[in-house]
Amino acid sequence: METKHPKIILTGDRPTGKLHVGHYVGSLRQRVALQNSGEYEAVFIMIADAQALTDNADNPEKIRQSIIDVALDYLSVGLDPAVTTMFVQSQIPELAELTIYYMNLVTVSRVQRNPTVKAEIVQRNFETTMPVGFFVYPISQASDITAFKATTVPVGEDQLPMIEQTREIVRSFNGTYGEVLVEPDALIPESEACKRLPGTDGKAKMSKSLGNCIYLSDPPEEVKKKVMSMFTDPGHLRVEDPGCVEGNAVFTYLDAFCRQEQFAKYLPEYADLDALKAHYRRGGLGDVKIKKFLINVMEEELAPIRARRREYEKDIRKVYRILEDGCRRAQAAAADTLRDVKAAMKINYFEDEELIQSHVDRYQG
Ligand code: ATP
Ligand code: MG
Repeated sequence: METKHPKIILTGDRPTGKLHVGHYVGSLRQRVALQNSGEYEAVFIMIADAQALTDNADNPEKIRQSIIDVALDYLSVGLDPAVTTMFVQSQIPELAELTIYYMNLVTVSRVQRNPTVKAEIVQRNFETTMPVGFFVYPISQASDITAFKATTVPVGEDQLPMIEQTREIVRSFNGTYGEVLVEPDALIPESEACKRLPGTDGKAKMSKSLGNCIYLSDPPEEVKKKVMSMFTDPGHLRVEDPGCVEGNAVFTYLDAFCRQEQFAKYLPEYADLDALKAHYRRGGLGDVKIKKFLINVMEEELAPIRARRREYEKDIRKVYRILEDGCRRAQAAAADTLRDVKAAMKINYFEDEELIQSHVDRYQG
């Protein structure tokens, strides 16, 4: 059914800190490619401050300070404000209004079964202290996606349950009130490494909240330091020992970042990543050599991002104007959808001449 709808992208990030290379390989890199493909009628990228407040209610200052950082991250990776609408979630009240109606279409037990929510409750020690707002954030995410009639949501793997939840809400809404909403598809990176990039500590996910990140804005010395201290194979003690590639973060990062031509440039003695991995498995290949290669590989990707960031940093007011302008455009789009939603639910009483006339007839006739 998706094909009959214009292709529209919606995705976003929580402004809980600067964006990291996990965001980059999981979603940002793909957003830029999709934006530049020219295949999409509209691209909406949202800074999800209202969602970030659901588990940071006591620290709005963190959110407030991070919005500009996320905006700079967007612009530095190549999201182009002339093509892509970048906006701030809380400034679009229509999104909150949609959430109120969607909440009635979802059961508490359905949200409780959401595996990402489950994991995040444990991670945040929310077992007995979870704010209601946090609990319903998957529903609010459905509002964000459907408000823009998005067909495509480029995200990391952890977001799949949210997209599934959104699709269920769309089916429920359309089934109950008529075909108004569009069922979105998640767009997940093909490479396993990019779906969920591990942290530099080897933990399952690089995450702002876990402090195991390489940030897009890290200076070269910082990237170098973080890579050199990265988790590898704890059993690989001496260079001559056979090493394990699986679960070895350095190799996972190479899977995510390195390109074939970089071998000729930096490690000509290896034909490709498979050859490098084979040598590591056999033994005789030290961690330092691979880490130095990884630093070169990552710098090729990060240096142009840093350069673009420096340009935008020179005019911060302009970045705020980009967001403000994005909010205006986003609000217009969300208001269109909300109008359709309320009309379908028949809660647009004052525009409903038939309703008013029937009551005139009933009481005055
Ligand atoms: P928080 O810890 O505050 O939740 P986060 O680091 O998980 O922060 P989000 O803003 O929740 O970041 O996620 C934004 C987007 O980046 C989502 O599409 C998510 O799937 C993706 N993403 C986040 N971390 C990774 C990762 N390590 N690998 C791949 N994609 C990721
Ligand atoms: Mg997250």
